[in-house]
Amino acid sequence: MTRLTPMMEQYKEIKDSLPDTILFFRLGDFYEMFFEDAQLASRELEIVLTAREGGAGKIPMCGIPYHSASNYIARLISRGYRVAICEQVEDPKEAKGLVRREVTRIITPGTVVEDFMLDEQRNNYLASIITDTSGIGLAYIDISTGEFKVSQINGPHALALLESELQRLAPAECLVPDWSEWPELWKDDRRRWGRALVSGQELPHYGIEEARRILMGHFKVASLEGYGLKDSPLGILAAALILHFLEETQKGSLDYIQALSVYNPQHYLEMDSATRRNLELTTTIREGRREGSLLWILDACSTAMGKRLLRSWVEQPLKDLVLINLRLDAVQELKEELALRQRLVQHLGQVYDLERLASRIGNSVASPRDLLAFRNSTSVLPAIQNMLAACRAGLLLDGGQMNDLQDLFELVNESIDDQAPLSSREGGIIKTGFNPEIDELRDLSRQGSDWLINFEICEKQRTGIKHLKVGYNKIFGYFIEVSKSNLVMVPPDYHRKQTLVNTERFISQELKEYEDKILGARERLFALEYREFTRIRDHLGQHIQRILTTAHLLAQLDVLASLAQVAYLNDYVRPVLETGGEIEIHGGRHPVVEKSLGDLRFVPNDLRMDLTHHRFAMITGPNMGGKSTFMRQNALLVLMAQMGSYIPADRARIGLVDRVFTRVGAADDLAAGQSTYMVEMLETANILNNASPKSLIILDEIGRGTSTFDGLSVAQAVSEYIAGRIGARTLFATHYHELTELESRVEGVFNLSVSVKETGDDVVFLKKVLPGRADKSYGLHVAALAGMPSLIIKRAGEVLAQLEKKAAPHKAPVLEQPPLFNQESPVENALRTMDLDALSPRDALDILYKWKEMV
Ligand code: ATP
Repeated sequence: MTRLTPMMEQYKEIKDSLPDTILFFRLGDFYEMFFEDAQLASRELEIVLTAREGGAGKIPMCGIPYHSASNYIARLISRGYRVAICEQVEDPKEAKGLVRREVTRIITPGTVVEDFMLDEQRNNYLASIITDTSGIGLAYIDISTGEFKVSQINGPHALALLESELQRLAPAECLVPDWSEWPELWKDDRRRWGRALVSGQELPHYGIEEARRILMGHFKVASLEGYGLKDSPLGILAAALILHFLEETQKGSLDYIQALSVYNPQHYLEMDSATRRNLELTTTIREGRREGSLLWILDACSTAMGKRLLRSWVEQPLKDLVLINLRLDAVQELKEELALRQRLVQHLGQVYDLERLASRIGNSVASPRDLLAFRNSTSVLPAIQNMLAACRAGLLLDGGQMNDLQDLFELVNESIDDQAPLSSREGGIIKTGFNPEIDELRDLSRQGSDWLINFEICEKQRTGIKHLKVGYNKIFGYFIEVSKSNLVMVPPDYHRKQTLVNTERFISQELKEYEDKILGARERLFALEYREFTRIRDHLGQHIQRILTTAHLLAQLDVLASLAQVAYLNDYVRPVLETGGEIEIHGGRHPVVEKSLGDLRFVPNDLRMDLTHHRFAMITGPNMGGKSTFMRQNALLVLMAQMGSYIPADRARIGLVDRVFTRVGAADDLAAGQSTYMVEMLETANILNNASPKSLIILDEIGRGTSTFDGLSVAQAVSEYIAGRIGARTLFATHYHELTELESRVEGVFNLSVSVKETGDDVVFLKKVLPGRADKSYGLHVAALAGMPSLIIKRAGEVLAQLEKKAAPHKAPVLEQPPLFNQESPVENALRTMDLDALSPRDALDILYKWKEMV
């Protein structure tokens, strides 16, 4: 068998150590890909596939110029691939034999730091997940901002919580070492992992001691006590796995990752993943767009950091009264103090993405322009500090006491030129007056050309040679060129350097001295500027933690100012939060629908609920009446209140909620092999199993996906169970008008309905929610409004009349005396339904034996 060429051997060896990664192999001015990588890349990047002689026949190959690699890499990363960059690590001219090559970085979706590959409005998370029978360890990092968090989720609902966290974080990449052991349901349902690239088999399995050592080694501490990780072995394993992965992929120092914080998702208002989607917190369900989401309404942030933090506030509302009020106090003060808010917003407008700047500084990839952005951002800090010094709200005072980073500002301000370029290798970076050596070199290279012109004029005069020329070439350096016809006039102090066809080239003592001084001055200048620049960058790099802490405070101020601004512009009020169970909202509005209605008036609605007689609202009314809007609106208002925002209402008291559940509409999940009705039942089961008396439940139609009586039975049983057993505050919209009878029989259930005005054939939807029940759905009317052919509407009317006539005897199939989950035993149940008169003595004895066995 023919062997591969030595270079292809080298390629193979490197490639074999990188499964699932596209290898960019540096060959001169190109990155080349071979074999399957070449086929894949040529397809994905639409570049020509060629072939190369590799020793054992032709090898598929394709390549891209090294200087335009970043665009191609970005395209591959955005499609969920990993790319390894393999460089020549010695000068080909000096290499004996094959040039040495090494992988210098592996770029993966979760480890991108380049600005142009990131969305500034959202974090880019790399997550790792470790499971065992005791629970789940979840760690995640955004290396572009330095945020590194870890959590251990225990208990029977760990998987559901993980799913909700994954939905919230939408990681770009997930590391799951024991992937092969995951439940099939998860493996099949890619939606659970969002956009994440999931990797498994090649990851190491650490023992807890080793993981501890990795973390302690990285953070240079003797114990992990201070990190609050004592009782989180799975969390420790997950965090260590992240550090290991970064070590493998980044190759450079990870010193800039300086903080790790432990959190517990259960300390926040919990929402399952369906609820996050249904309430359209950050994107709309239909089009997945930001416009039309709650985030879109609330976002008046000035900085990218603020936008990212606001997203996390929206997705992680609080449960702690004190913390919520801290935020509300600050929003209130900023809302009321117009001048303060305006000045703050104006200053924040000058702050760049300090978090990502800090990360690029820490990663040693920040450009001279990045440092200027850093300077501009930090220049406004003293002013921000000053204006907040006399505030009342605690969070604003915290802002007033932030580290103003003026030492770092001064350094950059004194050193980096205002016109500094993007590249750090081409000079023009360091300000005049900062470093005398740089000034001198720069003067020299600037004055150089003047001196040469002068020198040429003088020499022409001195020698009388009219066509004397001073020139330069790379090999011979500076020279004085004289044509052969003028050679007689050449003075004795010229020394011959080079003979050409028609001319001779000379050098003089004076020119030689000049050459020694100037030659390479530019190169030396560039090198010196680069060195000075990296020295300054490294100095900033030692203060990453300080920069990040200030950045976080700025982001928080930005979010508070944004909430205040939105509250001011849209007439929101401060909700009163309480620990009791009442929810009382007067004149509530849906924040998004209100906006999208534009000039049309949104009809405000009230809601009063408590934990006793009014905990389960059975909402009936016509199609298009506004039921869904009303329910979502109330869930959103609770959520906004608990994230610390003002809300669209006249006034509101809100008893804290621990979890929000929603079951809305019919979403097929055919991809996961589940029918509409199955999804409905799965989501409902999840609610019934996880809701507590402090939860808020929104149910928009239950039991619509099956036959009428089956559906109605399930809907009634679910209502009885929630109202009677769980006791959670619930809003349940239904077209089963029969369910309104529960009001009189089940404690806690009360009826609400949306009103309509009927005038002759015409129906006006008033969108007003009032106590009481509806007995019509106006389904045909809405169908007509939707433009259904009138023949169909007419025919439907006939069918409806027949059905209503037939159904009259069973008008209320609702069980007269619901068993209401008093846990009747099977024996009692059998006894109640048994026809004793039809039982033979033998059968009766058999049954007795069976019951005895059961008991
Ligand atoms: P269905 O039973 O058919 O699902 P519904 O009762 O849930 O209908 P919604 O979807 O909530 O009705 O509302 C129907 C339309 O009415 C929406 O387009 C919404 O924009 C508008 N709407 C809802 N509530 C109000 C309100 N309070 N003021 C003004 N317009 C409203």
